[in-house]
Amino acid sequence: MIPYGRQDITRADIDAVVAVLNSDYLTQGPMVPRFENAVADHCGAEHAVAVNSATSALHIACLALGLGPGDWLWTTPVTFVASANCGLYCGAKVDFVDIDPRTYNLCPQALERKLITAEREGRLPKVVVPVHLCGQPCDMAAIHVLARRFGFKIIEDASHAIGGRYKGEPIGNGYYSDITVFSFHPVKIITTAEGGMALTNDAELANRMALLRSHGITRDQAQMTHEADGPWYYQQVELGFNYRMTDLQAALGVSQLTRLDEYVSRRHYFAERYNRLLSELPVITPWQHPDSYSGLHLYVIRLQLDKITHSHREVFEALRGQGIGVNLHYIPVHTQPYYRNMGYKPGDFEESESYYAEAISLPMYPTMSEAQQDQVIAVLQEALS
Ligand SMILES: *Cc1c(COP(=O)(O)O)cnc(C)c1O
Repeated sequence: MIPYGRQDITRADIDAVVAVLNSDYLTQGPMVPRFENAVADHCGAEHAVAVNSATSALHIACLALGLGPGDWLWTTPVTFVASANCGLYCGAKVDFVDIDPRTYNLCPQALERKLITAEREGRLPKVVVPVHLCGQPCDMAAIHVLARRFGFKIIEDASHAIGGRYKGEPIGNGYYSDITVFSFHPVKIITTAEGGMALTNDAELANRMALLRSHGITRDQAQMTHEADGPWYYQQVELGFNYRMTDLQAALGVSQLTRLDEYVSRRHYFAERYNRLLSELPVITPWQHPDSYSGLHLYVIRLQLDKITHSHREVFEALRGQGIGVNLHYIPVHTQPYYRNMGYKPGDFEESESYYAEAISLPMYPTMSEAQQDQVIAVLQEALS
């Protein structure tokens, strides 16, 4: 099976992890801050808080921004469920904004229309989570203007997008958002096995997220309510969690990060090759906005169903049957049973649903070979004919 995505683990990665295993600290040692600083430097952000997953990062990002019961969080239906669930964890309500039919990202025009109505009805969102689907950045400048006008906060779910750029600047620099979140799951661009990170330029948000990551406990006198009882003393000042990243994971992350740019340019090489070799087939290849340099976590095609005799499902099954590990990113979140129980239903977000009816993620990862890619294309061509 040629998988849709795959990690690349080198000798240097293994040595970096083994060095931590032989050191004094398996967790809460020097590697986590080193990884945080390296990612913050790479992205041009002031602060970074490493955690055990992007899901955890989204959760503490929402809490740090004060999201709670009675508030609304809005995101796109075409994302992994975690982008929406983080709102529910905080007791907030979740709503969705349909996608742009060209980029498949949250559509700023649809967002504006929905905000105007919400303002009239007194239910404006406190937090909006744009997701950089496949690594292509959302229209952040437009979303940022709306944030100013309607007073909401922005968490960029950049789980697909580390190593990408928006208007020539690295994703994660926080020019257009309050917090940016990355995922380091093995299928993503770089990995720490499980892991995530939240970046911000706001020291107070960074502090709050660091507290929430580790039980709400501080050893910093400045954050305590009174003078420490002694050198053993710590205070719990918030209700936090154990969302910490280990030093083993951070060491792997530091080592992987040195190859980030190489990985993203390999992905661009394969994407351009797909674009060229698929140009005669009845599929829509991913359109790229001129402002974006995508991290290209995924390569998603849309079938032109009016030009082929097979169904979407038949093409998908034919590919899987021939050893091509295609996938579908994503089932629109509002159609999940858990969200349907809140009143959402098929038909609510038409662009997202028509995307879902046609999309297939083709295999793409830095260590893929041209021969493997040619095999994917040959099987796809046969499946479409
Ligand atoms: C992978 C992913 C997440 C969750 O990442 P984890 O690190 O597995 O928790 C969240 N949002 C999006 C868009 C993702 O692709």
